[in-house]
Amino acid sequence: MPAGDISQNLCSQKYIREVMGCAGVTFKKGYGQNFLINPSIPKKTADAAAESGAPCVLEIGPGIGALTAELCSRFERVAAVEIDETLIPILNKTLASFNNVTIIKGDFLDIDIKTFSREMFGGRDYAVCANLPYYITTPIIMKLLEAKDPAMVSITLMVQSEVAARLTASPGTSDYGAITAAVSYYGRARRLFNVSPGSFMPVPKVSSAVVSIELYKKGQYPVNPKDEDLMFALIRAAFGQRRKTLLNALTSTSLPKNYGNGVQIKKEMAKTAAESAGIDPSVRGEVLSVAQFAALSDALCDAISHAL
Ligand code: SAM
Repeated sequence: MPAGDISQNLCSQKYIREVMGCAGVTFKKGYGQNFLINPSIPKKTADAAAESGAPCVLEIGPGIGALTAELCSRFERVAAVEIDETLIPILNKTLASFNNVTIIKGDFLDIDIKTFSREMFGGRDYAVCANLPYYITTPIIMKLLEAKDPAMVSITLMVQSEVAARLTASPGTSDYGAITAAVSYYGRARRLFNVSPGSFMPVPKVSSAVVSIELYKKGQYPVNPKDEDLMFALIRAAFGQRRKTLLNALTSTSLPKNYGNGVQIKKEMAKTAAESAGIDPSVRGEVLSVAQFAALSDALCDAISHAL
């Protein structure tokens, strides 16, 4: 059966009930299981992932395989990690006609990404693609970004509509947050299309959207702070206390451990650093772009080394 017909079948509610019923499996809300039943969505999502041009793809949470089947017909190698062991025999059956897919039973959050990608794809470029379980969206995105795996070229994700707005927000807007700044440091995020609750079974309470993040290649990051940990500490400080001015948020923050245990940023130092980075210390941190956070952290690095 061609891949398109397979995923069409996998999106049929009757088929999903049948295949899960035969295996005595029920939907597990705790694992965020809302399976796709609108066949156009796995096709469009897989098309978006394939735009990366990577030969391989990593899928998180294949479910019963609707998106996986579309990925199998667009990529040379597919590796899919599924936490729910009761779905593994179902996946072995629904994807039996593909010889380019490996299903791994496990919790994606426990996986060492670089080791995994080397073992699965032999160092070749790969895309990440997933209809994410919404209960762990942020930890998964941060894990993917912080892995800094040079072979990972893009991330295409179905997320809750509000999360899509946060991932693609501009500085100074209410949706802009620490995760927006992090994403814009590692890559370029775009909201691709919206997905209605009726496209899933069971029907979720929220709307969804597909977002793609094109990752910057090693050595080609547009923003290069002297101390990445310090920059992220400043970002966390600014968004952890959104209502405070930048100056007040910074002065109630501890420096990363390499500056000593529990060392606080002094007010005068924070003020001087902000001014020398061309930033008004009385603004709220949430208006700063990631380039401005980097400039601030560089100025703070200089101020700290002068003070020593
Ligand atoms: N890809 C399928 C689809 O689009 O129809 C299923 C998507 S469903 C929203 C999320 C899937 O992620 C479920 O199959 C769930 O069991 C799996 N999952 C949840 N937590 C996971 C984790 N920590 N690691 C790997 N898979 C996980």
